[in-house]
Amino acid sequence: MAKFADKVIIVTGASSGIGQSTAELLAKEGAKVAITGRSEKGLEETKQLMLKAGGNEEKILTIAADVTNEEDTKRIVAETVKKFGKLDILVNNAGAGTMEGYPDSSIAQPLLVYDYINNLNARSVIALCQEAIPHLKASKGNIVNVSSIGSLRASPNFMYYQMAKAALDHFTRILAAQLAPEGVRVNVVNPGAIRTNWLARTGIPQAAVDALEKSWLNVWLPMRRVGEPIEIAKTIAFLASDDASYITGQMIVADGGAVIATVPMPKDTSR
Ligand code: NDP
Repeated sequence: MAKFADKVIIVTGASSGIGQSTAELLAKEGAKVAITGRSEKGLEETKQLMLKAGGNEEKILTIAADVTNEEDTKRIVAETVKKFGKLDILVNNAGAGTMEGYPDSSIAQPLLVYDYINNLNARSVIALCQEAIPHLKASKGNIVNVSSIGSLRASPNFMYYQMAKAALDHFTRILAAQLAPEGVRVNVVNPGAIRTNWLARTGIPQAAVDALEKSWLNVWLPMRRVGEPIEIAKTIAFLASDDASYITGQMIVADGGAVIATVPMPKDTSR
């Protein structure tokens, strides 16, 4: 039997990258999936991938929505429950960082940028959880948040993003402690560098993204490669599944070894 047969799952940020791959995997595993994001084109692409993976039309609900808007977060949960009659799993994956208003350091980025980035990566997750929790208590379901290894590091470029993801990590732990007695699990996946549009969408030019991969990731990163979206999708699916039935409040770092590594000594260092 498919792992997620009859499970009703919301995946935010499903119009691209990790969320798209997660929706595809869950459809393959029999789930009824509500896919959401702002780009209708991206959502249609995801739907086609889900159908190709073995999903069927009646098990897919497409909701074009902006998670930073509270009316939209209410609508995402309400429309899902209206169509499928329940909710088992909420995957809070939508997120982004930005170089917007970046002069020469991230502390100088306008506070309006902070407000948006915090809303997108942390506040919107709280809003979605508030709507979803009554349904998850009824189904003894679970929540998987998608954070970043950025929450564990200090990049001079992405202060507000990393702060928001750190808040998301701790929100996960606190919510997990609150909901565990009611049979609802809450966990978080912290990806490292994954091959999606994420970095390019921050506003960093593609040439710089390519150069970064060549000069840094392939030299310093222990696994010597960026990850693929499906590798994070599988981690999300594990935490969402009954295979993780005794795991709550936990963070799984999936990063090719990035956070455990230090920069290697230069090759020509000799005694
Ligand atoms: P993508 O840019 O490919 O996807 C981001 C998704 O978030 C899109 O589906 C986008 O949809 C959605 N999104 C962004 N803003 C909004 C909004 N206001 N309302 C609704 N949806 C929104 O990047 P990834 O797939 O890589 O990112 C997925 C998650 O993984 C994010 O939380 C990201 O921070 C995290 N992550 C990614 C890493 C990487 O290297 N790729 C590393 C660490 C963490 P749309 O534009 O249609 O609204």
